[in-house]
Amino acid sequence: MGDVTGNREHYTSLCRMCDNRCGINVYVENGTIVEITGLKEHKWNHGRLCVKGRLAVDMVNAPDRILKPLKRIGRKWEEINLDQAYDEIAEKIKKIQSTWGDRSMSVWKGEALGFLTQENLYRRFIHAIGSPNYFSNDSQCYVGRWLGYALVTGDWATQDFIKSKCAVIWASNPPYSQPNLTQSILNGRERSGKLIVIDVRLSAIARQADEFVQILPGTDGALAHGIARQLIEDDNISHAFIDKYTIGFETYAQYVKIFTPNLVEKHTGVPAETVVHLAREIGSRRPKVAFYAGNGLEHHENGINNVRAIACLDGLLGNLDHEGGNFIAEKPGLRDLTLYKDKPLRHLGPIGADKYSVLYDFRKECHTISAMDSILNEKPYPLKGMILAGANPALTNPNSQKVIKALKALELFVVRDLFMTETAKLADYVLPAATFLENSELHCHPIHQIIGLSTEIVTFPECDSEHIFLKKLASRLGIENYFPWKDNDELNRWLLQDTTITLETLRDHPEGFEYKPRRFLKHQKDGLTTPSGKFEFVSKYLKGHGYSELPEYVPPAYRCSPNPEYPYVMVTGARKVFYTHGRNRNFKQCRSAIPNPDIEMHPIDAEILGVKTGDIVTLTSTVGSVDIPVKVVHKSKILPGVTQVTHGWQESNINLLTHDDRNDPIDGFPLMKSVEIKITPKQDGSRNH
Ligand code: SF4
Repeated sequence: MGDVTGNREHYTSLCRMCDNRCGINVYVENGTIVEITGLKEHKWNHGRLCVKGRLAVDMVNAPDRILKPLKRIGRKWEEINLDQAYDEIAEKIKKIQSTWGDRSMSVWKGEALGFLTQENLYRRFIHAIGSPNYFSNDSQCYVGRWLGYALVTGDWATQDFIKSKCAVIWASNPPYSQPNLTQSILNGRERSGKLIVIDVRLSAIARQADEFVQILPGTDGALAHGIARQLIEDDNISHAFIDKYTIGFETYAQYVKIFTPNLVEKHTGVPAETVVHLAREIGSRRPKVAFYAGNGLEHHENGINNVRAIACLDGLLGNLDHEGGNFIAEKPGLRDLTLYKDKPLRHLGPIGADKYSVLYDFRKECHTISAMDSILNEKPYPLKGMILAGANPALTNPNSQKVIKALKALELFVVRDLFMTETAKLADYVLPAATFLENSELHCHPIHQIIGLSTEIVTFPECDSEHIFLKKLASRLGIENYFPWKDNDELNRWLLQDTTITLETLRDHPEGFEYKPRRFLKHQKDGLTTPSGKFEFVSKYLKGHGYSELPEYVPPAYRCSPNPEYPYVMVTGARKVFYTHGRNRNFKQCRSAIPNPDIEMHPIDAEILGVKTGDIVTLTSTVGSVDIPVKVVHKSKILPGVTQVTHGWQESNINLLTHDDRNDPIDGFPLMKSVEIKITPKQDGSRNH
């Protein structure tokens, strides 16, 4: 029990409503969480709690939360006993294994229920039953950026904004996606820095920037190469870093020569003089320059090379692992839950690993988009069963119609979630799950190299944590030896076993415990974790896999071969402050603040189309169509011809328009942020879903 004052108990924990893991105080009355506030002592948020964090109270107590196991009987749901649900699911898994083979089972881990430990538990479970098919939302969000950086530097560094002299936020809007990260960025700028934002929209962070550079969607690689060319021409580069710690500089420098300011302007819409100015502003502050590469970069057919192009700037500026630059955090040394060493299962053909081997080699991620083909066409082999936890691919994967058809075709589809999502509606079984306030889990915070422990504060009888769910299922499948820990505490102790940290230490340090003092410039002694051990302007690894060794810029299709039938370009997925991805749409206060999806449109386009804010238009791509209300924005917010539509809305599911067959050739990421569409005003104002 936490500290008690009157009828109020007080606990400390970590918020997991987004990836920032802020320290929180949680107050409980009569067994119910009634209030959450920011924890002043926590090194990351210093007492701040954002609006998303406050929503955790609504989430845990939501009246529409799933608290009982549900089984589909025809078109209806029937509440069943938890043991019965687990027994039946285990029997169906065994049947799939014996009929189709172990690899026809799969798991899919989303983020609504937790992050790293859950991810590794699911990886462990699926390998324990003999299948390599671990899926997650990472194969179409986040990993594109991680991979782009990892191919160049060996890792995706975090940003030392506090000590930086220049923060460059590229295609991201932290005030809405990671609210408390924004404070570090602004504090850094306050001290001695400069904030530059590069994006297609005048976002919340762009409005606070010293310089905002508006760019056409999917052309970021050209701008990065233009900046690189200018830095090299001005000899404003770190020769000490380039000479000692990089490979391929000459080849790269030769390649970027073609990206003159005028050519960059032609590709990106960024004025030539701005390209030169940007390079000089950034170069004059090196090496204390921190780049944050956002999700806007990775959802293009050329996404990974756009990220590589930006990552290459670190090599020129010498900011990699430098104080005030892009800092490569060390890990705390937790034990590995996965079985890739003992049971690699690569020979069983993880789905998507043949086509996107880079994604699998680096991240051990199967490809969710390819999973739909395996279900529907049984190629390369049939995928028949899936346990999906805290994800909503019916709304968030491209080509939703196909996704829905595929998930319906599974022989066994089990969804674990807090709410009846569009994906859960397709399941055979929907199982109640625990929120982060009902689960004790280890969390690391790389920028400060601190580790913390979330607290199990309340419990609901049938809402098992993912660990306990998998443990119970494993015992029914005869693989209980892979889940020997009796509870989450025992699991956490096992994870910490190779460190000097104990659970008791973590409980004594709700503000986070520094697992290692930060060290900068580690590559000078240890090298980098790339194949060459050096910073790679060119990648021999990619060349060996049939790709260009250079981060070559390929213009997006809407620029190099425009289709006059689909004259607008659509960007999807800009964040909203109340919503995290497709979540929170069922919370009343979120809906009253932001009730509808909409399409952001430049006033010139609105005039051409003859529409105003609130009018309904039909958006059509070569994949499908959807109706949505218009929001005419200020002319500075978005460029004419470019539109932005928020994702995650069942009412206007934008992934009915997105392609599942136009993927980045290296990592398989889908085209979601430079989609060609046409826009037709609805004369009668009605809206079809
Ligand atoms: S930024 Fe907000 S939502 Fe994210 S962890 Fe912190 S308080 Fe929670």
